[in-house]
Amino acid sequence: MDLHTLLVCTALVSFIMMLTMAALYIASRNESYLIDWLVCGALFFASNLSGILATNVDFPSFFHPAFANACYLAGHAALFSGVSKCLYNRSMWGVVLIVFVGIFVMHFVPAMNESIELRIVVLYPMIAALDISAMLALWKHRNEEAGKAYYLLIILLFIFSAQQLFRGYLLLTGIENTPWIEKHQLLNIGSLAVIAFYFLLTIAFSVVVTWRKELALREYSLTDHLTGWYNRKALEVFANKELKRCIRNDTQLAFIVFDIDHFKSVNDQFGHILGDKAIAHVTAIAKQQLREYDQYFRLGGEEFAVLVSHISGQDVELLAQRIRKSVAKTPLILDDETVYLTVSVGVAMLNPQETSWQTVLKRADDALYRSKHQGRNQVTSCGDLAKI
Ligand code: GH3
Ligand code: MG
Ligand code: MG
Repeated sequence: MDLHTLLVCTALVSFIMMLTMAALYIASRNESYLIDWLVCGALFFASNLSGILATNVDFPSFFHPAFANACYLAGHAALFSGVSKCLYNRSMWGVVLIVFVGIFVMHFVPAMNESIELRIVVLYPMIAALDISAMLALWKHRNEEAGKAYYLLIILLFIFSAQQLFRGYLLLTGIENTPWIEKHQLLNIGSLAVIAFYFLLTIAFSVVVTWRKELALREYSLTDHLTGWYNRKALEVFANKELKRCIRNDTQLAFIVFDIDHFKSVNDQFGHILGDKAIAHVTAIAKQQLREYDQYFRLGGEEFAVLVSHISGQDVELLAQRIRKSVAKTPLILDDETVYLTVSVGVAMLNPQETSWQTVLKRADDALYRSKHQGRNQVTSCGDLAKI
C-alpha cells in the first residue's frame, strides 16, 4: 500500500474515533473523561491531516514534521489525561500542552529537523512512556468494580508500546542487515499498527464508558435518593453476599435496626418537606458513627438497618448506643426552630446454625418494637449479646 493511501486510512479512523467520543459524550455527560479522549482523537486526526496536506501543499519544510509529531504525541498525552480523569477525576491538560509545545519547538533544533534517526530516538520512547504510564495507572485499578472494563485498554497499550519500541530499535540498528523484512515494509507495518491502534482504541474507550455507565446506573437503582443510603433492593443483594462470606469465614453478622420516634408529629408540626430534612439529618448523624465497611440501608419510611460483620456482640451494642446517643444530642437546626429527635433501636446477631439473614433482621425488628413499647430512645438486644 502506498504512503498516501495509508495516511488517508489513518486520518479516517482517527476521525471516526473523534466522532465516536463526541457521540458517547453527548449520550453520557457525566463521563467527562470522554472530552479528553475526544481531544485525543482530534489531535491524531490533525496529525494525519497535516501529513496528507504536506504531500499535496507546499508547506515550509520545518512545519510538517513539527506540527504532525506535536499533534501525535499530544494525542497520546490526551489519552493519558483521559485515563487520569477516569481514575482520579483529574485531567492532565498541562501535560498535553507541554508535550505539544515542547515537541513543536524541538523541531526547530536543526539536528532534530534534519535527522529522522534522531527523531526516532527522542519521540518513540516518549510515546511509549506516555502509553505505559496510562497502562500502569489502569493496571493499579484492575481490582475495582469497573476494573474488568480496563483490560482491553491495558492490553492494547502494552502491545502498542512494545511494537513501538521494537520498531524503533529495528529502524535504528541495521534494518539493512535483517533478511526477513525491508525498511519500506517496516514503515508500512508501522502505519498499519497505528490504524489498528486507533480502531481498537475506539472500541476500548467505548467498553470503558459503557461499563462505567452500567455500574453508575446499578448504583443509582440501589440507592435511596433522600438519604444516600442503600434501598431495600440493595439489602437483598448485599446481605446475601455478606451472609455467605460470614458463614464461609466463620465470622459474626448482625443487624442494627432503628426507627425515628414520634415522626408523625414532626411531619404534622413542620410539614413533609422539613420532615424529609429530618430524615436526612438523622441518617447523616448515624452514618458518622459507622465503620468504613458497615453497610447501611433505608428499609422504608423512617426505619433503617445497618448490616455489620466481623464484630463481637458487645461491640454491636456499643455501636447501637453510639447511634442512639449521637442522634439524641444533635438537634436539627431550622431557621427559627430547633428540633430534637430520638431513635429506638433493635439489635440481633446471627445464631450458630442460622442460615438466613432475614430471620436475623426480623429478630432485630422485634427488638426495636420492644424499645418502642418500653418508652423509646433506647437500645434493645435480642438475647444476651455480651456472650457472643
Ligand atoms: P413511633 O415512635 O412509634 O415510630 O411513631 P411514628 O410517628 O414515628 O410512627 P411510624 O414510625 O409508624 O411513622 C412513620 C411516619 O413517617 C408516617 C409517615 O407519614 C412518615 N414518613 C414515612 N416516609 C416519609 C418520608 O419519606 N418523608 C416524610 N416527611 N415522612 C415520611
Ligand atoms: Mg417512627
Ligand atoms: Mg416507622
